[in-house]
Amino acid sequence: MSEDSPNHEMGDADFDDEHQRDPLTTNSGEAVPDNQNSRSAGVGGPLLMEDYHYFEKMAQFNRERIPERVVHAKGGGAYGTFTVTDDRISEYTMADIFSEEGKETELFIRFSTVAGPRGSPDTVRDPRGFAVKFYTEDGNWDMVGNNTPVFFVRDPSKFSDFIHTQKKLPSKDINEPTPQWDFWSLSPESLHQVTWLFGDRGIPASWRTMNGYSSHTYSLYNESDERYWVKFHFKTDQGIDNLPQEKATRLAGENPDYHKQDLWDAIEDGEYPSWTVKVQIMPETDAEAYHINPFDLTRVWPHDDYPLMEVGTMELNENPDNYFAEVEQSAFSPAHVVPGIAHSPDKMLQGRIPSYDDTHRHRLGVNFEDIPVNRPKEASKNNYHQDGQMRIDDNNGGGPNYEPNSFGGPVEQPSVEQPPLAVSGNADRYEMKERIDNFKQPGDLLREVMSQDERDRFVENVTGNMAGVSEDEIKHRQITLFFKADPKIGRRIATELGYDPEAIIDDKLLAVEDEISDADVVADLLE
Ligand code: NDP
Repeated sequence: MSEDSPNHEMGDADFDDEHQRDPLTTNSGEAVPDNQNSRSAGVGGPLLMEDYHYFEKMAQFNRERIPERVVHAKGGGAYGTFTVTDDRISEYTMADIFSEEGKETELFIRFSTVAGPRGSPDTVRDPRGFAVKFYTEDGNWDMVGNNTPVFFVRDPSKFSDFIHTQKKLPSKDINEPTPQWDFWSLSPESLHQVTWLFGDRGIPASWRTMNGYSSHTYSLYNESDERYWVKFHFKTDQGIDNLPQEKATRLAGENPDYHKQDLWDAIEDGEYPSWTVKVQIMPETDAEAYHINPFDLTRVWPHDDYPLMEVGTMELNENPDNYFAEVEQSAFSPAHVVPGIAHSPDKMLQGRIPSYDDTHRHRLGVNFEDIPVNRPKEASKNNYHQDGQMRIDDNNGGGPNYEPNSFGGPVEQPSVEQPPLAVSGNADRYEMKERIDNFKQPGDLLREVMSQDERDRFVENVTGNMAGVSEDEIKHRQITLFFKADPKIGRRIATELGYDPEAIIDDKLLAVEDEISDADVVADLLE
């Protein structure tokens, strides 16, 4: 896909039997006379410093690795197209991508696991990244989502601590379950995502058979300065399919790139996967009165309250030519929105806005958006930023490098400003205390969404993982959280882990056990 692709290919391997090849050269273009034998002083002598071709070859090799992503390091990607199938959304947003039925926009997607390093297996129990870069005429819009509608924490100051619990122990450099359950049991807001993760959808059968979610609440605004809150849903047209734990564990050994290969093969075979893109839309003024804080990333908006509205279809139809150039160097950021789509007061989203570009500057350099996969395709980049490492375009030539100026160059566009957002209160550190309920939605998921078979597998997955936790106190705390979501499940997990529920669950909770399943009344009782 890269415009600068050289004229040789592997994979599709045009086997070259005509021997008409370009000369091999150094980076400066000098022809290389011999690529098999280094220059030495005599047949058995030491190597000569002057063998610059050898030094350049090793210098390049020594620098092949760039810092891997601190999260979402293992992944794969593909190109595709988004097509509007229902333009009702254009009433809510001025974003060009949604302007009319039939409108097509090119995109690049990257799927990933969250915790493991670059070489780790695909088939682990973990949320999956679902990051889409839409090359719109208004500039690139990145929808940096996951395959789950919620997340483990609701304040970004907890993010790096949480991620440390998913990584290897600092002492042994080995993964152990104790830190994650310690953190989760001390962070009750994580329960919804934990429940989701240990259900069947915690290990998708392929990237093609999972949904994607913006998870965060974003905003849409139109030419009349009306703002709406929005959540994006990408529903797989292949149908949901997941892997049982045992098969996933086996596949992790047999083919660590199982999901990457599945996507690659499907696209090569012309079986283009697709997703139906839908939105939930909330009028701006609903947010204050809604019984759920719509900016709490640990909770969904129930579909009965805000039904899904169809917008379009996303199809993946082209594999990248070169993994490093296009997938490893792809850089997504929730900061990349376009006129008509903006952010929301979701604190996790606010925390991600500066953080993603920051990590890309560290990983790829300050001019990472000039890398072909990251460049806007349908819009041009016009600004006064200059210089920096790997500035490989004309650096804005000889034009003025400041604004305002009297000599030409790009100017601001007030018409794309989002409507003003009312805020109030003192600058301070606030824990979300109102309209939170850490237990109702995980309880709904267990009782109303999961089948009996899936609940059984859920208990097996949780107890199998928690059995390795070193401290009883951590397990007791976590069992209590599961009990608060659903007493039956809490009791089962306690018993499977070898504890007497009556001995480890708080008497006050046991006394209101019957009421807990009547989830609407539990919030006051349990927080
Ligand atoms: P609905 O019955 O309208 O929706 C249930 C949702 O759960 C569907 O989106 C479905 O996805 C999804 N789902 C089905 N099986 C599983 C599973 N094993 N693990 C995770 N998700 C699953 O109910 P509500 O909107 O009232 O939500 C009830 C609960 O469903 C929530 O508390 C939440 O835990 C979960 N959920 C809700 C979502 C939302 O945005 N409202 C999204 C995803 C999950 P699909 O239609 O693709 O099968």
